[in-house]
Amino acid sequence: MRRKLVVGNWKMHGSHAANAQLLGGLQAAAPWIAEVAVCAPFPYLAEVALALQGSEIAWGAQDCSAHESGAHTGEVSAGMLAEFGCRYVIVGHSERRAAHRETDQLVADKAKVALGHRLTPIVCVGETLEEREAGRTHDVVKRQMSAVIHTVAHCISQVVVAYEPVWAIGTGKTASPEQAQAVHALLRAQLQAATAHAGDMRILYGGSVKPDNAAELFAQPDIDGGLIGGASLKAVDFAAICRAG
Ligand code: PEP
Repeated sequence: MRRKLVVGNWKMHGSHAANAQLLGGLQAAAPWIAEVAVCAPFPYLAEVALALQGSEIAWGAQDCSAHESGAHTGEVSAGMLAEFGCRYVIVGHSERRAAHRETDQLVADKAKVALGHRLTPIVCVGETLEEREAGRTHDVVKRQMSAVIHTVAHCISQVVVAYEPVWAIGTGKTASPEQAQAVHALLRAQLQAATAHAGDMRILYGGSVKPDNAAELFAQPDIDGGLIGGASLKAVDFAAICRAG
């Protein structure tokens, strides 16, 4: 039985005051049956770690370098994230694939480096509206997943996958539970061909998850929780989504 996982992606939001309020509100609402984590901007990792140390809530980052160390100005290594107690790191978010031209192989390399530091990469895959309308959803997510499967090889079972249709991120448009389940089932089948542990792997859904649609999405057989953007910034909303898991 897979334990549901609900992860907040704060994106580039936060301040000392807002973080304290959000984390205070979340800790007051804990615990949940689901596992819960928040992925904060790099500069706030130390204070998030301090606030959440010993709590039920894990923390992580939103990206890492594909390099171990060296002359990579502005980048943050997986080893550094591990030193700040991160359990998770998001890699391949569609905003990074689009705005920073991250390729499938770069995303896969980041996942590999993260695993090498005992972090759990949350690998995002998902199609654009144009790709969906052209009937290419399955090809796109399979291609994105395949790069990770080939690069991390036998470690694939330690990865968390997040299916995030690009057209549903921050738009208020959610994939229907049936649309999301269809892609999750496809991803599960692809993972099954790569590892005997695919049945234990968590595949999250992300894209305008809110308190009022989370339960129906999370009830789908292959949806094991969510990656939550906008709604993770309000403690009451995020706590309600965590309760749906
Ligand atoms: C995300 O950024 O990963 C995300 C799913 O955002 P939102 O929930 O705001 O659509």
